[in-house]
Amino acid sequence: MPKLAVLFDAGQAVLSTFDLDEVLQRILAIARDYFHLPNVAILLLDKEAQQLRVRSQIGWDPGKDAISLGWHEGITGASVLKRQPVYTPDVSEDPRYICAAQSTRSELAIPLMARDEVVGVLDCQSDRLDYFDRETIELLTLFSTQASIALQNARLYSLERQRARQLEAINTIAQQSTAVMELEDLLVRVCAVIQKAFQVSHVSLLLREEGDLVMRAHQGTLTPCIPPGGRFPVNQEPWACVISSSGTIIEKDLSGMPEPLRLFRESASRMSIPLISFGQTLGVLTLHSSERNAFRESELQSLESVADICANSIQNAHYIERVKQLAYLDGLTGIFNRRFFELRILEEIDRARRYGTGMAVIMADIDQFKQLNDEFGHLLGDEVLRQVSSLFHQQLRKIDVVCRYGGEEFAILLTQITTHQAVAIADKLRRLVESFQFPGVPRTITISAGVAAFPAHGKTRDEIVRAADSGLYAAKQAGRNCVCLANIALATSSCQ
Ligand code: GH3
Ligand code: MG
Ligand code: MG
Repeated sequence: MPKLAVLFDAGQAVLSTFDLDEVLQRILAIARDYFHLPNVAILLLDKEAQQLRVRSQIGWDPGKDAISLGWHEGITGASVLKRQPVYTPDVSEDPRYICAAQSTRSELAIPLMARDEVVGVLDCQSDRLDYFDRETIELLTLFSTQASIALQNARLYSLERQRARQLEAINTIAQQSTAVMELEDLLVRVCAVIQKAFQVSHVSLLLREEGDLVMRAHQGTLTPCIPPGGRFPVNQEPWACVISSSGTIIEKDLSGMPEPLRLFRESASRMSIPLISFGQTLGVLTLHSSERNAFRESELQSLESVADICANSIQNAHYIERVKQLAYLDGLTGIFNRRFFELRILEEIDRARRYGTGMAVIMADIDQFKQLNDEFGHLLGDEVLRQVSSLFHQQLRKIDVVCRYGGEEFAILLTQITTHQAVAIADKLRRLVESFQFPGVPRTITISAGVAAFPAHGKTRDEIVRAADSGLYAAKQAGRNCVCLANIALATSSCQ
């Protein structure tokens, strides 16, 4: 047997590449060719799962390589237990034998050691009875030390690469958290970055919203079992536990779980990590694998750092949304302000133009408000403004936009509406205010309103607003507490 040659070749294989699968295949091919073995395999030890899994093999019967053995099962398991080569000259006589190929007659299992730890097994099988003589066993044992080194090198390398990828992911997410970004964009991007960096099948983000957990984004290769925006009550296990304990949960086998709770049809194992920002749990980051038992405690630390960064980014995006919203809200009444009105009307004119749906503007102004302030004080005046805002808000449809245009003047944007309907709505609001008993005001309060519609009274924002203003002016001229359509004085019950 050309001893040196086989060891030299094994050494070369070790140095040839850092790709673990490629190194293992080369090592197995060398073992097969030099020792004329029909089948050889390297099984790796998974200490957490206490299993031996086939990592690479040549010549096993189809389907057999998918098996994973208990770490003390089979002849391979015996070699792990003894930390020494175990040889079975006739497998039919050995009750420990587990079949990997029908033709096998004898089997030799050699533990692969890293320092003094077993990391796997080199399993050699022959189709001849008692094929392995002493010298072959010794040589294969020597050979196996090269395989162990290769394995360790490649493992360290891939671990380093994985760490580098994960660090990069942490960096990317951290960078994005400082960029001003829409929440939706941020969530999708975060899922994509995590899925790529941690090489999992699917990643999703469930965020807390009013007592529910809502699936806000997901990225990956699996099939979702719930529609976008699907929700669960916040006390739904297992997430209730993740949220209440602020701790990560690893579910090793989801096969018994009903589909909606699995989130993704092919999901076989899952890790759920709480998203915590400033002590508040915003939701849950879930990582999915199509393989059972795919997540390790050892990955927890880096994933929890990613989740922390995610949570802060989400919180930032929430703040940005809130600040944006505040910029468009009126401080006194809580309804939209003029700035918002001027942006929204542009969108609505555009929509009306494109789809031919009607839109109209009502400009409403409280009558003799100055006098009201003088009579009852500014504070009560403020309260009346709030009450009128709330009356308008309650009375209108969700799609309509009520804004405080300035002082005691309101601009109302009505969409998908005819001119006639808009006038009727304005008059309904007028009657509502007239009949409303404002607390602390022992007399009637009234409004006047002007109505203008697209495209009849104007085709641009300024034209429509000016037209509605002219309607309002006409209503004031007509004696107040009435509604006038732009340009045409419109008689209503009290606008004679
Ligand atoms: P008209 O019927 O012609 O509209 O008369 P008016 O008194 O309502 O109109 P005018 O424009 O003369 O006065 C508006 C008043 O609204 C003056 C101002 O003090 C008051 N006002 C504007 N903003 C506020 C506010 O935020 N709170 C209170 N309390 N009053 C306000
Ligand atoms: Mg007024
Ligand atoms: Mg006014």
